[in-house]
Amino acid sequence: AQERKRKKNGPLKLTFEQIGGQDNAKRELREALDFLVRHDEMNKFGIRPLKGILLTGPPGTGKTLMAKAAAHYTDSVFVSASGSEFVEMYVGVGAGRIRDLFKDARTRAAKENKQSAIIFIDEIDVIGGKREGGQQREYDQTLNQLLTEMDGIYSNEAPRILIIAATNRKEMLDSALLRPGRFDRHIQVDLPDKKGRKHILELHAANKPLGEETDLDKLAEEAYGFSGAQLESVMNEGAIYAMRQNADHILQSHLSMAIDKVMMGEKTDRESSV
Ligand code: ATP
Repeated sequence: AQERKRKKNGPLKLTFEQIGGQDNAKRELREALDFLVRHDEMNKFGIRPLKGILLTGPPGTGKTLMAKAAAHYTDSVFVSASGSEFVEMYVGVGAGRIRDLFKDARTRAAKENKQSAIIFIDEIDVIGGKREGGQQREYDQTLNQLLTEMDGIYSNEAPRILIIAATNRKEMLDSALLRPGRFDRHIQVDLPDKKGRKHILELHAANKPLGEETDLDKLAEEAYGFSGAQLESVMNEGAIYAMRQNADHILQSHLSMAIDKVMMGEKTDRESSV
């Protein structure tokens, strides 16, 4: 399992240049990360370490990519978990998993000779939802363990630890998570605008034979409201249509069909989930 996890987290090559659009989010994240890198100056000024960054926004907008790029940018090891992995765990197991996550980050940083580690927790709302009316929730221990681990991060510790969490339901989070010294830096990762959509399409077209007449600007216009993940799908489906027709290149018509397919797919998904 350990080996599988290592493979999944893999060698880190993902950079901010490979993330399309999201100019504001990327800038804000880089600014925050500079604090991690310039920790000596932070110590000098007595600034408390940045421990948690919360990425909020709709699914498929690149939050996971951002966290990976953050690890690359700061030359940190990257370990990750998703809130949904903690579902239906027996009492105490979730807390143990959190402890292991932090232990894993520290061990790997030491082994790989890195000065910092980034722990990414996707779908944080699953374990960090509001605790209402003092009732015992099954995830309480998991959340408490996360808070304990965060409180136990010190500025002069090696490796330095930063937690990046992602959610598309920020309003659901327990206020304990949002307190100063925890996830007190929030970065919004929105659906891309037209320019961002074009950029994302270009990135995913880089390894594909596009016909000369293709117009990604027009495609970006047609893909109004699409997330990065959906745009990646458009390029992939477009390539599949082209291949099925034994075409030499991917044509605009293939991509337009792909847009319809992705749009329909979303609709069917939604209908079937009702
Ligand atoms: P979720 O909330 O569902 O976990 P997410 O915001 O973490 O989603 P990612 O997992 O980062 O989204 O993105 C999924 C895939 O969509 C990526 O692997 C990539 O192929 C594509 N993608 C999403 N956003 C972008 C982007 N801004 N630039 C390039 N590719 C993107």
